[in-house]
Amino acid sequence: MVELEGVNKHFGALHVLKDINLTVRKGEVLVVIGPSGSGKSTLCRAINRLETIDTGTIAIDGQKLPEEGRALARLRADVGMVFQSFNLFAHKTVLDNVTLGPRKARGTPKKAAADQARALLDRVGVANQANKMPAQLSGGQQQRVAIARALAMQPKVMLFDEPTSALDPEMVNEVLDAMVALAREGMTMIVVTHEMGFARKAADRVVFMADGQIVEEAPPEEFFTAPKSDRARDFLSKIL
Ligand code: ADP
Ligand code: MG
Repeated sequence: MVELEGVNKHFGALHVLKDINLTVRKGEVLVVIGPSGSGKSTLCRAINRLETIDTGTIAIDGQKLPEEGRALARLRADVGMVFQSFNLFAHKTVLDNVTLGPRKARGTPKKAAADQARALLDRVGVANQANKMPAQLSGGQQQRVAIARALAMQPKVMLFDEPTSALDPEMVNEVLDAMVALAREGMTMIVVTHEMGFARKAADRVVFMADGQIVEEAPPEEFFTAPKSDRARDFLSKIL
């Protein structure tokens, strides 16, 4: 579903993605973990073409990401993204936040978009918030709306970049639970998170990144209990 081959990316003299090769199968849940500055966000942004890459290829569902234009917009719609900061439209209701993409990008009629949005809001447990403004919701509720909004575009893969790290601790689980449910429904997911509980429950594979490289890849139990590299051991000793 997602295939990266020989991907390199520089910011000026800084080599942030170093020859990344990564394949994510349909329905697979990949957790990406690693120290701050290791390139995790850049990797997510490159997959969604929010960042260009210098060399290599990125393909979604067998189609190489084009540089620009209508084909890019279409492929980008296949990739849903949820950020650390919820990024909801502050001046639109929850319902409008979820219907806007399908209405504008896909031309979905208003009623159909609203029905779909209500179903998605229900799925992430915030159906009763549909007519509120984002600021009236808790952080956990806002992040679940952000997930519903991404799902409304019917993506083939969902990227989550530290979706719970801006939340108060008591709200982390409600967001992770929605993500676990999505994983169990068979969504292909790439999740940057240090939440081991999520990784253990939902991940098929953990990728450890450091200094722009994929250092280690393993099933979650194996990675957390017996990391192979010194870097991963050192990192885990700091977050556990
Ligand atoms: P992570 O998400 O793992 O913390 P990032 O992908 O955000 O790492 O950043 C990787 C490196 O690239 C860091 O050194 C960061 O400072 C740098 N970086 C990220 N975005 C930019 C940018 N737009 N311009 C210059 N440097 C950047
Ligand atoms: Mg980051």
